[in-house]
Amino acid sequence: AKREGRNRVEVFTAAMGAALVDRARMTADLAQAIENDELRMVYQPLVDTGRGIVIGAEALMRWQSPTRGNVRPDEFIPIAEESGQIIELGDWAIRQVVQQAVEWDVTGRDLKIGVNVSGLQLRPAFVETVRDLLAQSGLEPARLILELTESGLVDDDHRISLIGLLRDLGVTVAIDDFGTGYSSLSYLRRLPIDILKIDRSFINELHDQRNAAVAKTIIDLTRTLSLDCVAEGIETEEQLSQLQALGCQSVQGYLFAKPMEAQELMAFVAGFGAT
Ligand code: C2E
Ligand code: CA
Ligand code: CA
Ligand code: CA
Repeated sequence: AKREGRNRVEVFTAAMGAALVDRARMTADLAQAIENDELRMVYQPLVDTGRGIVIGAEALMRWQSPTRGNVRPDEFIPIAEESGQIIELGDWAIRQVVQQAVEWDVTGRDLKIGVNVSGLQLRPAFVETVRDLLAQSGLEPARLILELTESGLVDDDHRISLIGLLRDLGVTVAIDDFGTGYSSLSYLRRLPIDILKIDRSFINELHDQRNAAVAKTIIDLTRTLSLDCVAEGIETEEQLSQLQALGCQSVQGYLFAKPMEAQELMAFVAGFGAT
């Protein structure tokens, strides 16, 4: 039994070693990615089901690597967070998104654009970057939605105060993946935010009464706190009508559209609802 135990330890160590090498390689590849133009943002429409129109889009990062092919953000974002590269990636992303939003301005549709922001990006320099970008671009600040996840916010007064500074700039702040982290109501009350986004994991299984109850609780909570509600990951008509019944009007999901290239979005917006 002792021997078995030792072998198991050796196997585990080898697997860990391999994972470390993988991560180191990905970090090196990621370092090339920005420089070599391997990254781009795609945009998933945000629909107001009450008005039947597209009111915005969420920008999502894509990495087309010459050696790895398409790498999922679920894979490379955590690595970038660990290596610190998320700062550079995040700055690049928000620049792209603001520039894109200004280009779309000529259509006069005033779309809101959401961008994911890692908790690690919440530093004074980021507030400066956002301030400068808004000033240079002339973008109406409220149209920029910063999507932050709960992790990294709880009990971190420094970050909470930085969110306050961002909000003072006039940008819209959303808590992403709401319900999956360690939220407590007392901390939520202290957060200077505008939107709660219900995570896809609850929408996925809305037919399960307990998930439906969580979704309802979040939606009720947004009303109590005078926040807006956005639900992500809507794939079926049934989920859509359930959410509408619960009072959540702003939705995104494959039912309407998958994330698309920037140049496709305007046609989608114009054609939406025209059936
Ligand atoms: P997220 O912010 O929760 O984004 C929603 C994810 O759900 C996206 O996956 C989107 O493509 C996917 N999705 C939307 N609607 C549906 C649907 O109806 N069905 C299904 N199955 N999926 C749907 P994606 O693009 O792979 O991004 C995964 C995560 O990676 C994001 O989750 C976000 O946490 C992170 N991420 C993506 N881009 C960025 C970025 O620029 N910066 C940072 N910090 N994180 C990013
Ligand atoms: Ca998001
Ligand atoms: Ca999510
Ligand atoms: Ca997320």
